[in-house]
Amino acid sequence: MSRIYNFSAGPAVLPLEVLQEAQADLVDYRGSGMSIMEMSHRGKEYMAVQEEAQANLRELLGLTDDYAVLFIQGGASLQFAMLPMNFLGRDAVADYVNSGHWAAAAIKQARLVGQVNQAANCEKDIPTRMPEASELTWTPGAAYAHITSNETISGAQWKSLPVTEAPLVADMSSDILSRPVDAANFAMIYAGAQKNLGPAGFALVVIRKDFAERGNKALPAMLRYTTHIENGSMYNTPPCFSIYMLALTTRWLKRFGLAQMHRQNVEKAARLYAAIDSGTFYRGTAAKAFRSDMNVTFRLPTEELEARFCEEASKAGLKGLKGHRSVGGIRASIYNAFPVEGVERLVQFMKDFEKRCG
Ligand SMILES: *Cc1c(COP(=O)(O)O)cnc(C)c1O
Repeated sequence: MSRIYNFSAGPAVLPLEVLQEAQADLVDYRGSGMSIMEMSHRGKEYMAVQEEAQANLRELLGLTDDYAVLFIQGGASLQFAMLPMNFLGRDAVADYVNSGHWAAAAIKQARLVGQVNQAANCEKDIPTRMPEASELTWTPGAAYAHITSNETISGAQWKSLPVTEAPLVADMSSDILSRPVDAANFAMIYAGAQKNLGPAGFALVVIRKDFAERGNKALPAMLRYTTHIENGSMYNTPPCFSIYMLALTTRWLKRFGLAQMHRQNVEKAARLYAAIDSGTFYRGTAAKAFRSDMNVTFRLPTEELEARFCEEASKAGLKGLKGHRSVGGIRASIYNAFPVEGVERLVQFMKDFEKRCG
């Protein structure tokens, strides 16, 4: 077996233990004579898996019974549309913080439905960053306020999340469960699964039930949060295998502990930022106060060197380092499951590369 160090932004690395456990279970799931992908989603084996996934998430996120834990297909991108369709009435305003690519994508969908106020706009700022608290202008009586906790492409992350008067909604696709958050401050949190939770196939939606009740009741059933709540995320066939992988990943994370995982994430990122800051060859892309612990972005002196860096790193077993096509540069995505040794290997590679090409 030869596993590489996978710095891909998503779909992304999964814990080796989880992959091996899934492999052992694959052909004959616990004596059922079939795989988890082949059985009824309403049978007792699969129901137990989905219930465990939900219970693990409740524990890890510290959720009270006021919240529902939903799995909805269509990824984070469908949530960009479902959120305003449910809660942004024709005469209402929703506040959005425009912090970069993903926030802008959410705003674009909301504008198809209703009125958007940009509570702050640092979408195109260089260095990339999140807004300062003093820049934020919230609308009194807004239907909701939306933030993107971590901009996966630019590598900027909120270090302390705002608290708002309007119901606060966060796209946490790329840093969910990487650090403790106070879920009670949010009306809704959503995250595409394929970065820090498991394989692609759904978005996790954590929503306060009384907030969901305010949703537009004229929408088709699949687009209403209340439908998914009333049916325990089984209104239609859920993406069973992806949710099974989520159950294993959250079980793995519980063994580790979220506080410990957060310490390790901060430590991993700090090592890479120290390597970036050690000279003038590498340049961090994000403002220091907002550097992401999940997506570490940096530049080299020229695009030619960046291409060579990625090519040679790939040959050394360090893959997926090319920055997003819209911005270029280098991006090392180091989600929960990314091993500490992989970070050490990249730091060593960066030193060697600078010696040869700097
Ligand atoms: C990846 C990503 C998305 C898009 O997720 P899909 O599941 O592909 O729709 C949205 N927001 C953020 C912050 C992301 O990182």
